[in-house]
Amino acid sequence: MTSSFSTLNLAEPLARAVAEMGYESMTPIQEQAIPVVLQGKDVMGAAQTGTGKTAAFSLPLLQRMMAHENASTSPARHPVRALVLLPTRELADQVAQQVKLYAKYTNLRSAVVFGGMDMKPQTAELKKGVEVLVATPGRLLDHIEAKNAVLNQVEYVVLDEADRMLDIGFLPDLQRILSYLPKKRITLLFSATFSPEIKRLASSYLQDPVTIEVARSNATASTVEQHFYSVGADDKRRALHQILKARGMKQAFVFVNSKLGCARLARSLEREGLKTTALHGDKSQDERLKALEAFKSGEVDLLVCTDVAARGLDIKDVPAVFNFDVPFNAEDYVHRIGRTGRAGASGLAVSFVAPSDTRLVTDIEKLIKTKIELEPMEFEEDRPRISEQGRINDGRRMYREAEGSDQPDEPGVKQPVSRERRETREPRERREYAPRPSNIARDPFFDKPYESTLSAEAQPAWEAAAKSAGPRGMSANIKPKKKIAALFKTAVTES
Ligand code: AMP
Repeated sequence: MTSSFSTLNLAEPLARAVAEMGYESMTPIQEQAIPVVLQGKDVMGAAQTGTGKTAAFSLPLLQRMMAHENASTSPARHPVRALVLLPTRELADQVAQQVKLYAKYTNLRSAVVFGGMDMKPQTAELKKGVEVLVATPGRLLDHIEAKNAVLNQVEYVVLDEADRMLDIGFLPDLQRILSYLPKKRITLLFSATFSPEIKRLASSYLQDPVTIEVARSNATASTVEQHFYSVGADDKRRALHQILKARGMKQAFVFVNSKLGCARLARSLEREGLKTTALHGDKSQDERLKALEAFKSGEVDLLVCTDVAARGLDIKDVPAVFNFDVPFNAEDYVHRIGRTGRAGASGLAVSFVAPSDTRLVTDIEKLIKTKIELEPMEFEEDRPRISEQGRINDGRRMYREAEGSDQPDEPGVKQPVSRERRETREPRERREYAPRPSNIARDPFFDKPYESTLSAEAQPAWEAAAKSAGPRGMSANIKPKKKIAALFKTAVTES
């Protein structure tokens, strides 16, 4: 059982904001990171979006900044003291919104700047003075160069989703930004993995960091019913329609691997009468935010999206997730299906597996430590359908027209790109297939919401679950192997 926020003795305005959010207890990353940040130590954290990471760094930083809190209208009294850097606009926007909520009863000001938007309103906000600045690196550099952002009083830096920042090619920008900051500062780095590049970054910019690793939050994944249907590429849309209809599903995320595929699929589904919107990296910022809002408000039913565009989006209560394309990266599978079955609600995750996807499924199988059994997709009516326009549509022909050939939603090999362009591009997701070590263990992360440690003796929830009927199409009889892939560890180690 994790502890309550009251044990932190946060300043009253912060405690009030937390209480208002309805959080009952701290998540593991909060429990581990908040006291460390309060002590003023650097942190290297392995935690993903969805684990409560934003509060884990923003609450203690706000708490420390309360010493400077003042109601003065003078910009000079509100210098940037905390800088939070994120790789994408959506993430920056989301983090900034959360920071605003946590700081709402204080006089501490926050702002967000990211590319793809007019600089003027951002400039105006910066000029008024903000204590917490959330930014994507490219746009921040633009503001630094324009002398809109002065960073010589920064005391705290958060490099969030650092691995993704490196993927996008932000390292030179990051290094430049960090060179503008005072040497004496607290640096918090969060990353999904501790790759050699991340470790190098950490060793250059962090001082004696405390390393914190927590399991990816899969608070409700045990409530997600997972299916893998064997479907020819030409039949996926038909399969999607059939499942939506059969299940009476109101809303769903539909994941595809490429920007072009995303746009085309959304258009096709729209033509077929489904209220659909697309979210991918080639959309303008405004379009992306509108697409999200439309989905959140229920104006549209299907959000067709690519991984990077959807990563970290905090949309609750999505009843179903479709993997129209099996993700190239097995970790994205976990991330995608984490969109559904949240907060105890039951969720459905359906993956359409084309014959060429077999090795990707093997990757997922290894990562989730669960044998995946492909189910055949049986179509209700295996005959030509008549469209609303009275045209006879053979699902295959329509599909071909919809998909065409396209490129994965990824930037390709790292090469110099303009800063603005980088912020609209998405990181290289595809990895060459390399068999994962066979000793990757089954781990109960699907069944353990927000728990910091797993008792070695306790029967893992997945074993209990295996004894009862597993989700259809998933074998329950998988032998546990060794414990836990590094990414999903729950241990805390100090370095
Ligand atoms: P994050 O990982 O920071 O993006 O947070 C994911 C979601 O978890 C957000 O909707 C937060 O509002 C929510 N959250 C953060 N901390 C807690 C907590 N202690 N209890 C419940 N929900 C939380």
